[in-house]
Amino acid sequence: MNVIVCRARRYSIRRILRCATCKTQRRMLVQDEAWYGSTITCCHCGDSWQDGERTLRSNKRGWRKEAAAKATAEWLAAGTYDPAAHEAWFRAETGDGA
Ligand SMILES: [Zn+2]
Repeated sequence: MNVIVCRARRYSIRRILRCATCKTQRRMLVQDEAWYGSTITCCHCGDSWQDGERTLRSNKRGWRKEAAAKATAEWLAAGTYDPAAHEAWFRAETGDGA
């Protein structure tokens, strides 16, 4: 069953960062979660990191392609980073003066 929430629990941010797996600068999708910190996913190889630790790789066939495609789509959808919008999202998530 799909649960539809009225607001995204994760805030996506576009970044160009060095990927430890690709060993070069890549489009990296940063997804911020109010209570869990952020997850970074490489749009090229699909690897992701949470708090500097690489998350477990799936053993599903073709997961890299799938993860990379998903990250790329979200990276593109994230648009230009807006610090004010990010802060507003964070405040709403944490219930701080929303
Ligand atoms: Zn990579």
